[in-house]
Amino acid sequence: MSDTPKFIVDHNVGKLARWLRLMGYDARFFRGDDDAELVTIALKEGRVILTRDTHIMKRRMVTKGRLKALLIESDQPQRQVRQVVDSLHLDYRFNPFSLCLECNQPLVERKKAEVKELVPPYVFKTQEQFRQCPSCQRLYWRGTHWRAMTRRLEGLGGG
Ligand SMILES: [Zn+2]
Repeated sequence: MSDTPKFIVDHNVGKLARWLRLMGYDARFFRGDDDAELVTIALKEGRVILTRDTHIMKRRMVTKGRLKALLIESDQPQRQVRQVVDSLHLDYRFNPFSLCLECNQPLVERKKAEVKELVPPYVFKTQEQFRQCPSCQRLYWRGTHWRAMTRRLEGLGGG
């Protein structure tokens, strides 16, 4: 799917990055304060800008339509997620369990035997599918935390 949007998330709406990654959307977090740098990355990598900064919305690249940007209205993370999903017609269940929530890196499958020493015994006993971030080495499984987050997302979509 080549028209799947990718995002660059301004630090003023930083929590959005995790939620988008949870759904499986590539969401790069922008830490800096330099609007010009944010715009440059967005253009180069074809990313939609998510921000609460009205100055960015007034930049020529955005007003001329060369760059897509969404001004986030609420300061509540859940409302922010909902605005992005509604405005850009995202799918809450697009591709869950595919990206590292911390680094935005695609997760790699790990065989159960490979993670035996790396996860708590209870998790090893009860989970079958494991994935790992090649960057931070964090392990993921579809455990209760993941399910709780996914359910919160689906709750948002229920209206
Ligand atoms: Zn990671």
